[in-house]
Amino acid sequence: MVIKDEAPNEEAVWEPIPYLGRSVRVVGDWQSVDAAQTPHEKNKRGELGKPLHNWYFNRTSRDPLGRVATANSSADRRNAIETHIAGAPRGKINPERTEVVDPKVMTEHIKRVAKHLGASDVGIMRVHPSFLYKEGRYPDDGRGADGGGGTIMVSAEETARRYPYAIACIYAWDYDMGRAHRHRIGDAAYHFGAEALRSTYANLAGYIRELGYGVATRVATPMPVALGAGLGEIGRHGMLITERFGARVHLGDPILTDLPLVPDEPIDIGVEDFCKVCRKCANTCPTNSISTEGKKVVNGVEKYKINWETCYRLRPHVMEYWDICMTCVAVCPYTKPDAWWRTVAVRAIKWTPIPLRGITTRALKWIDDRFWGKLGRKRVQWMSHDSGRLKLPDGTVMPEEPERGYYYPLKENTRRFDILKEKLKSKA
Ligand code: SF4
Ligand code: SF4
Repeated sequence: MVIKDEAPNEEAVWEPIPYLGRSVRVVGDWQSVDAAQTPHEKNKRGELGKPLHNWYFNRTSRDPLGRVATANSSADRRNAIETHIAGAPRGKINPERTEVVDPKVMTEHIKRVAKHLGASDVGIMRVHPSFLYKEGRYPDDGRGADGGGGTIMVSAEETARRYPYAIACIYAWDYDMGRAHRHRIGDAAYHFGAEALRSTYANLAGYIRELGYGVATRVATPMPVALGAGLGEIGRHGMLITERFGARVHLGDPILTDLPLVPDEPIDIGVEDFCKVCRKCANTCPTNSISTEGKKVVNGVEKYKINWETCYRLRPHVMEYWDICMTCVAVCPYTKPDAWWRTVAVRAIKWTPIPLRGITTRALKWIDDRFWGKLGRKRVQWMSHDSGRLKLPDGTVMPEEPERGYYYPLKENTRRFDILKEKLKSKA
């Protein structure tokens, strides 16, 4: 049941959109995103064509592990834990509320709890209505618990007022497995990382309700919350880049709450400067979905424009071999193991004064290309999988690769040279 909230305060005036760090710049009117227009929702309605719609609803993964990893890939959705987490009844708010004497102490506590529950990192942000979906998804303020009277449909402004804090968690997937991008091994790292984060969020939401405070889920757009909460910066590839794990992280669905907390600040790890000289993701993206050019203004925000549709549409064409591409994440120089030399490299950028960062980033990019390769095709073995061996669906066995893995059936973005030529011609 959906109940329209009785007395939303439409007159309230909001502060300007908060600073989200150097990797994006708010330059105009930022409208809340309509959840109904996001990629999966459009695909559910069949607006992105039959192949992608069937990929989403009518397939069973060839990989048995993949079938457990996501409900859409399984032979029976009940075998995937995400089905049960998403459908689990939400509990009521404990009427015996735990008093918060010092929000700073509670913030430290809730972060420790989130990490204990599996989060690789946690940040807090003060909620702004622009970061919430339009009314397409409905917040549950606790009254919507089982038998509690249905879900409340309210405006983004009213939601932001009721739940002033957002808790954003990330989960870092395994570095070595992630190196096998465009492979079942990379799929497993990606999908089970998402599963782990879902479970973390569900536990955290339950804990907050037990403390006696409200929780709203599925109402906030994850990226601006993660930026504002100081978890990282957004890269040219449109993914969050974190200080410890680079881009190999899941964001998930942030929790909104009225538990008194202290917000974090955006961070600067030099992504803005690195992306200007790097372009590694754009040069290797097999679908040419990442721009090699400068930023553009989209919905009032200046950022690198990603063509999500060409990236998304790839999936039905490769599903015999793998699910998720993630080449852009794997090749990103920030995506490295969590080791001391990585910390030194990121600190070298952070501590370089901004006007001089071009020199540091060029040097680090040169080192990255030399030692890690421009594409990154390491052979990875994991469980029964081996990216150096490839058997095609017709039974053909490809020769074993001793060092490199197969990233079949796609090559890196060879179209980029044609695009460059076309551009030069049109300018001449
Ligand atoms: S096609 Fe692959 S490399 Fe390109 S944007 Fe999508 S996930 Fe990234
Ligand atoms: S690969 Fe390079 S250009 Fe792309 S997001 Fe990472 S640092 Fe930026």
